[in-house]
Amino acid sequence: MLKIISSIKKNGIQLGFSDYKIRNKDGNVIFLETYGIPLKKNNEIYAILSIAKDITFLKNINSKIQESENKLNKIYNSIPLSFHFYSLKTDGKLIFNGSNSAANKILKVDCSKFIGKTIEEAFPPLMKTDIPQKYKEIAKNGGTWKWDQIDYDDKTIKGAYEVIAFQTSPNELVASFRDITQHLKNKKKIQDSEEKLLELNKKLEETISRRTRELDDSEKLYKSLFDDSPIAIILMEMNLQFLISNAAFNKTFGYSEDDLIGKNIEEFCFCTPPSLDKFFKSIQLLKEKQLPLSFEAEIYKKDNTLAYILVRMNIINLDNLKLIELMLQDITELKESEENFKIITEQSFMGTLIIQNGKIKYVNKAVSDINEYSIKEMLNWSKYKFFQTIHPEDQAIAMDRFEKKIKGGLKGYDPFLYRLISKSGNIKWANIYSKTIQYQGKKAILTTLIDYTDKHFAEEELQKSEEKYRRLFESSKDGIAMTDLEGNILDANKAFLDMLDYSIDDLKNLNFNQIISQDINILEKSILKNEILIKNYFQEFEKNLTKKNGDTLPVNIKIWIKIDIQNNASGFWTIIRDITQRKIEENLREEFRQRLEEEVNKRTKELQESIEKQNLYQAEIIKASKFKSQFLATMSHELRTPLNAIIGFTELLLEKAFGPLNKEQNEYLLDIKTSAEHQYDMISNILNITQLESGQVILNKHFFSLNTILDQINSTIKPMYTKKKLLFLIEGLDEEKEMYADPIRFKEIFLNLLTNAIKFTIDGQIKLVIKEYFDKWIFKVRDTGIGIAHKDFNLIFKDFVRIDSTYVRSTSGTGLGLSLTKRLVELHNGTITFSSFLGVGSTFTINLPKKSEDLDVII
Ligand code: ADP
Repeated sequence: MLKIISSIKKNGIQLGFSDYKIRNKDGNVIFLETYGIPLKKNNEIYAILSIAKDITFLKNINSKIQESENKLNKIYNSIPLSFHFYSLKTDGKLIFNGSNSAANKILKVDCSKFIGKTIEEAFPPLMKTDIPQKYKEIAKNGGTWKWDQIDYDDKTIKGAYEVIAFQTSPNELVASFRDITQHLKNKKKIQDSEEKLLELNKKLEETISRRTRELDDSEKLYKSLFDDSPIAIILMEMNLQFLISNAAFNKTFGYSEDDLIGKNIEEFCFCTPPSLDKFFKSIQLLKEKQLPLSFEAEIYKKDNTLAYILVRMNIINLDNLKLIELMLQDITELKESEENFKIITEQSFMGTLIIQNGKIKYVNKAVSDINEYSIKEMLNWSKYKFFQTIHPEDQAIAMDRFEKKIKGGLKGYDPFLYRLISKSGNIKWANIYSKTIQYQGKKAILTTLIDYTDKHFAEEELQKSEEKYRRLFESSKDGIAMTDLEGNILDANKAFLDMLDYSIDDLKNLNFNQIISQDINILEKSILKNEILIKNYFQEFEKNLTKKNGDTLPVNIKIWIKIDIQNNASGFWTIIRDITQRKIEENLREEFRQRLEEEVNKRTKELQESIEKQNLYQAEIIKASKFKSQFLATMSHELRTPLNAIIGFTELLLEKAFGPLNKEQNEYLLDIKTSAEHQYDMISNILNITQLESGQVILNKHFFSLNTILDQINSTIKPMYTKKKLLFLIEGLDEEKEMYADPIRFKEIFLNLLTNAIKFTIDGQIKLVIKEYFDKWIFKVRDTGIGIAHKDFNLIFKDFVRIDSTYVRSTSGTGLGLSLTKRLVELHNGTITFSSFLGVGSTFTINLPKKSEDLDVII
């Protein structure tokens, strides 16, 4: 209200409000519709006129209407009935207005998407029906219409529906429908089953009437059977009172009819207590199931002996009386034999199974030992289950043989080896045999299993090894034959037959002794036999065998004793090898050897002769050489002595000891002196060489001062190089050095080399270079002389050879100096080499080892 006033004040206009809730004096709530009108003076609001109207009644009606509409909506949406709303327009079109949720649920579509569409657009399959037309009539004219079944089918909606349509107000229509698809199906089912039931009923009636007829007949039959039956029968009333027993019962168990008729089972208790218990339980079961059953029991005969019986119990109708029929079969004997059977089989290694009615009824431990399933597991297995333990590859044949055996197709004991697969998956080999028997009075199949696994594998191994042996035997290039102790050939391989040209058929009558052409009869020689046996080793011979055509064949024979399983000698193994080729080769070799020997002898003799000749020759040479050396030594002495006199006296004359000399005299005397000196040198050198060659020179080695020796050499050659104005240098001797050699020979070597160097050098210098190493001395004599032409290199160490040149000819010399020097160096175990260039100079190098045979280490 305050809001109204402030609004009027603000805007200055009239305002109306409804729905004011106020309480009246009585405390009841009333609704007011209110107006506010501003009253103005001088254009100013001075008051507000308020008019209120009581609208409580109207309000209540409206809310009731609302309420009822809500209710209706709720009903529409919650009831399982479905509604579609339509309006008939003036143009005659029936327009879909909406649906309730039940309709959406039933049709499984949201029907709101059809709102505003004509009935034909919304539900096209309805066009084929009279529905749109009827709906329109109802909407217009009122009334109700019902369709028992409409089969509707479009993309989204499918089913059978029951539909009722009615007018709600003019031109307004509601169509209500119900899904009767399932209902129809159920109806169909009921109809079908009713038909079946009727049929069954009919059959039943037929059967009953037939059975009734049969029963009448069978009753008669039963009575006669009862009396004549060899099986003991007792009939009892349902209250367990004995009614009648047949003659067989009385005969079998010794009782008379009086013993039991009219008595209750408890009064005439002929069973052992456990059997009685079984009896009651069986009757109970029989009454419940109304089906025949059987059990074993122990009963006392009239004479108090115990008998095992098989009781078959049944309810029969006789003279319209329900009776319990007991058929008693004495199975004492059977039971006993069964007991015996069990005792035997339980201890037997032979697996035993009894299959009855397709099921395992008995199985012993031996089976369990083979296939690893427990007895408990196997009992009541079907025979198929048992066959499944047979290897898949053997199953078909096992089944086949089993069936044949059962049907009598296979006669006699004819076991067959099968593979079984044990519980843990191992393959076992077993001999299986089946046979039909009577077990507990009924037909059964006795199946026995013998574990063959070990034996099988052993056999397999044996076969393998036999095959291996056979292959070896057949493929061997050596002939192999097996004989008995008498030598009769029992078997022989191809090589054996081929070698001797025999066929396999010839073997039958062939004895090994026959084909040995030599005196030895291997098999008769007991010593030999014993030897082989004792040594457990073979004997080997080379003998000739006789071929089929009479030719002989040289062979190597090896013989073993054949030992059988009991370790007895059972024959011989003989292996023969053709040695024809070897024999030929041996002969050839022998021939060759003989020829070779002859040749060697011849050659040895020749050699001997030539050695003898050579020795003779050598002795002569030695003799000649000795003679030569001796001759030269003597001769040189003889030659040198007069030369000494010539030189000495010539010198005296030249020194004018015997008076002055004229020019010619002086010149001739000088010539004489020079020639005599040359001669003297020549003879000295020849002597030296001769001595060296004849081995007469023995080195006198010892330590000496190299410096001293070189000083002596220098003073000897000094006049020579000074005269020619040449320089002489020594290099590498800055300190005192000692060396080990023959000093006289050493001096001789270097005097020779240095004299040559001075002699063949026109100007320049001569140098002696000394190098000391750990193990050797190296001396080089280097000059700047005329040099030696390459072509003459091989000449200079030869005896009496001088190079053919003008300069050389102008010098004095014998051509023996270098050859002597070489011999002296070599006597010291050293070497001499040289290098030279014509016109440039020469270098002679001497290498002397420090170590020598007479001194181990020289440092
Ligand atoms: P000879 O008595 O002639 O010196 P050798 O045996 O000492 O005899 O020498 C042989 C020849 O070798 C000499 O005649 C000479 O032709 C040559 N000959 C030796 N030493 C030298 C050298 N240092 N220079 C050049 N030629 C040499």
